[in-house]
Amino acid sequence: MTSEPSEPALDALFRTASELAAAEAEHSVGVGEDGEGVAAAALTRSGAVLVGVWVEAMVDSACLCAETGPICDAHRTRDPIRASVCVRWTSDQGATVLPACGVCQERLAVFGGDVLIAVALGDGGVEYATLADLRPHPWWSAVEG
Ligand SMILES: [Zn+2]
Repeated sequence: MTSEPSEPALDALFRTASELAAAEAEHSVGVGEDGEGVAAAALTRSGAVLVGVWVEAMVDSACLCAETGPICDAHRTRDPIRASVCVRWTSDQGATVLPACGVCQERLAVFGGDVLIAVALGDGGVEYATLADLRPHPWWSAVEG
């Protein structure tokens, strides 16, 4: 896949992340936790779909965003990420898109400013914005000349 990811592929990416987040939420309830699940799915240049889940830790700073797994897999397979979506799921609210945090934006930036990041629309819909759209003035533009 060298062209822009298709809309059906991006819709499928959202469904994949939502289903995994819902499964994580169900697992959470099963172990007596809060019923919240967070998962991410990423589409790579070759068309592979990589998934990951939020990793809880005893210290907040040791937790890992759900995007971390797909980002590591993309580096391992040398297959750059073209699009990424992260979804929080609860039984009350269903799926909510969480745009990549600042740290994940830094990690995704190595794949280029044209990486598509899912963002939530006010009406509950989802759209994809480029990383460059989310970060019009990244720190590295000051040093690249
Ligand atoms: Zn993050």
